[in-house]
Amino acid sequence: MGKVGKGKLCDVKGCGRPAVRSISGEKARGLDVAPSGRRVYLCEEHHKLWKKLTKRDRELDRLRFLR
Ligand SMILES: [Zn+2]
Repeated sequence: MGKVGKGKLCDVKGCGRPAVRSISGEKARGLDVAPSGRRVYLCEEHHKLWKKLTKRDRELDRLRFLR
């Protein structure tokens, strides 16, 4: 993960804002991104959303483990 150079746009469908972060494509499950390449580029807003989604995933995993 890291900063993204200028000119990259968010990969979430219908977004089109400038990307600020990239994540690996396999970690992008839950987001509506076009499956192109190994990196998925996200704008500020979708990066926040992605963090929320992955947090929920971790909590669900923990709940499954405890059950
Ligand atoms: Zn976006």
